[in-house]
Order: sequence, then C-alpha cells, then structure tokens
Amino acid sequence: MDRAEYRGQPAQPPSRPAARYRVAHEIPTLQGSLRKLRSPSPMRSPPSRAHSAGSARPHPSGLRLGIDLDGVVADFNQGWISRYNDHFDAALRPDQVVTWDGLVPITHFCDMEEFWAWARAGECSVFRELPLYDGAMETLARLARVHRPVVISSKYDWAIPDTLEWLAEHRCPAREIHFVWDKTSVDCDVYLEDAPHHLTALARARSDRVICRMVRPWNTAVPGTVDVRDWAEFAAVVGDVAAAART
Ligand SMILES: [Mg+2]
Repeated sequence: MDRAEYRGQPAQPPSRPAARYRVAHEIPTLQGSLRKLRSPSPMRSPPSRAHSAGSARPHPSGLRLGIDLDGVVADFNQGWISRYNDHFDAALRPDQVVTWDGLVPITHFCDMEEFWAWARAGECSVFRELPLYDGAMETLARLARVHRPVVISSKYDWAIPDTLEWLAEHRCPAREIHFVWDKTSVDCDVYLEDAPHHLTALARARSDRVICRMVRPWNTAVPGTVDVRDWAEFAAVVGDVAAAART
C-alpha cells in the first residue's frame, strides 16, 4: 500500500444530481472517448498463456473493467475498525473516517507506519478479513458474463497473499489481477476507483477512457471522472459505455 493511500485532502462529497443525469451529462464526452476505444477492439489484451493453452476468452466484445479493491469492493474501514475495536476494546465507527488522511487521528496510533505494523500482525493481515460492500461481487459476477473484470490494487508485498486468498474466498471473477503503484499502467476501458490520487492520475493519463469515481466521504469530484454512488450505478455506466461502443 502506498503511504499516500490514506492521505490527502478529501472532504465530504458535495450534493450532486442524480446519477443517471450525471452519467447522461457525461456521455457526450464519453462517446468521443469511445470512438478511440473501438479500434482496436476494447478487448485489447494480448493472447495469454492460458488463452493459447485453450482457455479462450468467452466474451471478445466485452469491455476491460479496471476495478480497485479497497474502498470499492472491500470495505477497508469497516474491516480495520472491527479488528481495532476487538483488539483495543474501542468503539470506533466507519463513519468517523471522513477524510483521506482521517484514519490515524481517530486511533491511538502515532502515524501510518504504526497502523500498518498493527494491521499486518497476527495470523493474517487486516486485508484477509475485509467485508464486501453491498452488491459488489454480485455485480462483478454479472458484468463478467459480458465484460472482463481486471483487478487493479495498490498493496504492500506483505498484503498480497491475504488479498489473493480474500479474492478467492469471495469468488472474484477477475481474469487479471494487478498489484501496482501506478494504476495508469494497466490499460482498461472503464475504471472504478475511490482514491483521489489514483483518480487524478487516471483522469490525466487515461483521458480517452471512462474513469468512475466511487463516491465516498473521503473523496471529492475529480474533473474528467464520472460519479457513481454504488455498484448499481457503476453497472449502469458500463451498460451505457457498452451501448455507445456498439453504435
Ligand atoms: Mg481504493
């Protein structure tokens, strides 16, 4: 996990119009971007070893969906706070984390170094125990029937084995998993992300793609991104993008 992962200058998300209006408002821009997506095919990944071994891609017309994990699929704050309350007989609540750098101040830890040392201690790290957000894996499974989920997550090395076990336990249908610090290095058609710094980087480096901000208390609107408040809204955006790509 990059040290900046829980730092920044977020604030409560501003009151915004309904998502459908927001998405529709964005579509003219997205359609311009989608013209670039159509050539080459949105499913641009090179043939993989698995593919050449006979495991053909089932949906060659699908979109590559770059999916962040923590704060998007996995409820990191609920997870670490549950562990923290158990360990220290505390009564923290996830809704107390309202800024990007708002984790340490509600704990007794001095800094993130101390937090991560605690978070990785024990039989498994906190990343092995995170709960799912409502609708996350169900929606990913539905999208995977047509599209190609690509997990893109920034993690310390020590967190990777627990994250892989967590993904397997929850039957994540991702066909690719990337643990990278620079998420712009993974080419996708649609991204779903909650971290302000990743959203800014993606909007800058992948301006011809569709970048969705999962609206959370710790992020704010980022120019060049589309707001989604939950997984149903993300699925609707993917549907709009796919439909625009077919026209
Ligand atoms: Mg995240």
